Amino acid sequence: MRVPAVLPVLPVRDIVLFPGAEERIRIGRPASIRMIEDAVAHRGPIAVFTQKYDGAARPAPDELCRIGVAAEIGEVAPRENGLVDVAVRPFARIAVVRLISHRPLLRAEVAVARTTAAASRDRQWQATVAELRKAATDLFHRQARPAAETARLQLAHITGPGALADFVAAHLALDISAEQDLLEELDEARRVRAVLLQVADQLEIGRLRRKIRSDVEARFTANRRQAYLHEQLRVIREELGEDRSPGEQLGVELRKRLVAGGLPPAAMARAERELQRLAALHPASGDYLLVADYLDLLATLPWRQVTAENTDLASIRRALDASHYDLENVKQRLIEHVAVRQRNPTGNYPVLCLLGPPGVGKQSLARSLAAALGRTFSMLALGGAQTEAEILGSHRTRPAATPGRPMRELHRLKTRNPLVLLAGVDQLPSAMQGDPAQGLLEVIDPRQNGAFTDRYLDVAFDLSQVFFLATAQYADDIPAVLRERLEIVRLPGYSDEDKRIIARDHLLPCQQAEHGLKPEQCRFEDEALDLIITDYTREAGVRGLDRRLGAVCRAIAVRLTAEQGTFGGKVTPGLIEEIFGPPRFLREARLATANPGVATGLAWTSAGGEIMHIEALRFPGKGQIQLTGQIGGLMKESAQAALSLLKSRAGALDIDLNDLLDSDVHVHVPAGAVPKDGPSAGIAIFAAMVSLWTGQTVRADVAMTGEITLRGLVLPVGGLKEKILAAQRAGIPAVILPRLNEKDLAEVPASVRESMRLVPVETVDEVMKAALNPKPSPPPRGKKSRSRG
Ligand code: ADP
Repeated sequence: MRVPAVLPVLPVRDIVLFPGAEERIRIGRPASIRMIEDAVAHRGPIAVFTQKYDGAARPAPDELCRIGVAAEIGEVAPRENGLVDVAVRPFARIAVVRLISHRPLLRAEVAVARTTAAASRDRQWQATVAELRKAATDLFHRQARPAAETARLQLAHITGPGALADFVAAHLALDISAEQDLLEELDEARRVRAVLLQVADQLEIGRLRRKIRSDVEARFTANRRQAYLHEQLRVIREELGEDRSPGEQLGVELRKRLVAGGLPPAAMARAERELQRLAALHPASGDYLLVADYLDLLATLPWRQVTAENTDLASIRRALDASHYDLENVKQRLIEHVAVRQRNPTGNYPVLCLLGPPGVGKQSLARSLAAALGRTFSMLALGGAQTEAEILGSHRTRPAATPGRPMRELHRLKTRNPLVLLAGVDQLPSAMQGDPAQGLLEVIDPRQNGAFTDRYLDVAFDLSQVFFLATAQYADDIPAVLRERLEIVRLPGYSDEDKRIIARDHLLPCQQAEHGLKPEQCRFEDEALDLIITDYTREAGVRGLDRRLGAVCRAIAVRLTAEQGTFGGKVTPGLIEEIFGPPRFLREARLATANPGVATGLAWTSAGGEIMHIEALRFPGKGQIQLTGQIGGLMKESAQAALSLLKSRAGALDIDLNDLLDSDVHVHVPAGAVPKDGPSAGIAIFAAMVSLWTGQTVRADVAMTGEITLRGLVLPVGGLKEKILAAQRAGIPAVILPRLNEKDLAEVPASVRESMRLVPVETVDEVMKAALNPKPSPPPRGKKSRSRG
């Protein structure tokens, strides 16, 4: 079709038309619509130019692109809103020569834009054109839209590289400026290449899109595949008759174990209910695990398992004698307890509580007894137990619920008749409702422990076959609720002589074996052992001694290696000092000065016996008394009594009563490790006061214990053995004690009795006679008549 020299111009936005590609465009501007109506009336072609800028409703001539197309008008279809759809068939590329009029209609003089064709014989060119056709066909095919499909079919009928490039460009979804660039490309070869690049680009984008989509799909199908396989598996199981899921399988196994576990009927009924619950739960749920754990515990508790018990009392006694020196009373009491239990296993007996300072053999004796009885030994250290739940367990509805420690221990031991040592019952926090001591009572009380119900288990378990023993250091610290159910058996501590024997017969052989030493490689001289006992340890038990012996063995092992066998194996006091350095404990009694106003008392604390230097001081006042130090109410009363007694006897003691009434006296009891109380310091306080006023010093080699009355009598005291041993440890050779305590001396080892001077007294006068040094002359009368030495 010929292109007239002058054409009406239709400016368009959003679209670039290419020759040979029919388009449907929508127009709305009244001027454009009028122009179309006019063109249709004249049946002539129009020029279509794309606006450079999107904005203007009535673009100025220079706002149109330079190159556009000449097009025939096809069907015109009015739409609602005054818009009109127009089919346009571009047939030539044209350029504006000049604008003729702007109003009422835009008209321009145009010329066909001449394009330069490439040499059609060039092989490479032919290949490029063929490639464009193939790539475009491929692209339209892949786009799989009806319009693209139509374009693909039309493509086959387009001849000529320029027309091909234009047609393909018209069907690419490019942005406007890129399309206009292609339209304005008048060199055919360049246009073909530019379009080919765009097609290749779009093919690549399509390829990437497909890849991403297929990756996503691959993941989807993996999940579906699993679900499918699981379903198949279920069907196969059903076919094979194994119609149980792993969850159901666990339920079946648990039931088998529960039946085999020998649960009593009540517990079994409970287990049955839990099994039903389990079956209704999903195996992946948290509750399922909780119920399964609970059932597992029920199945593995030792409902029936017991170990055979040795009933031969004589052999048990022999075993205890072999493992522990002395402790006669304790062993006797243990054997009696065993004997009575054998006769009546379900009797209402108290639990024996071994009471004594550290290292006296409480725990090791319990271990020996368990071994001799053939019972499994277990120790519950009660030091950390702060809440009742630790003993009784916590209810399963609580978060992180567990059984209490006793039941956990039985579960671990796999026997229902172990010997359980409750270590440190004095370390439980005392008396409040719901405290651990109260809980422990349910465990040990024979009247209730036959049906002990741990809060977690919530079914009764019979603890009556458990052999309970307890240990404590301080009787006063045992919670009252428990004390009623315990029978205290004291282990008072050892004399130096006892320690020597224990060291030789028990501790040393163990240490030697542990360090791989033969007895002849480690031969202790008596003096060396004594030196460790008296100067390097100071304790009621033998723990420190044991440690020191271990250290000596270590040192010897090193020497044996270093000296290549030249070390003779003899352990002398010299070697001890070489290993440990100078003695740790100087004998305090030797330091007790000859100053008036200081007396050596003896205290009985839960850690054994202790010596204490009681100091008295006076200053002007009104005959009052002041007390300091860690002392309790009973000791204060003792001091009051001592002062009253002193006043009443002033004449007989040759003390000026006025002097007494014009002075206050201050009594101090040094704190030591443990608070002290009790009336047994009475005679020591009295002796210190007498010494203060008479100026007579108290003998440094005498320690004393005894309560005083206002009439000057000396009353008996407790813990005599511990006190005498404490004096011996401190190197004090004489002890003044109440005559009424004489019967207790039987408890004191004979070797100690023989090596010490024990002075039984009935009255304070006898105390004065035994304790005070002769009066110096003249007596010192200074305000401050004593000082610490
Ligand atoms: P405790 O429980 O009273 O603190 P242990 O039982 O731990 O004391 O004893 C500490 C060490 O002393 C253990 O090695 C123990 O065998 C030993 N021991 C204590 N008393 C004796 C004794 N009478 N005979 C033999 N060894 C003893």
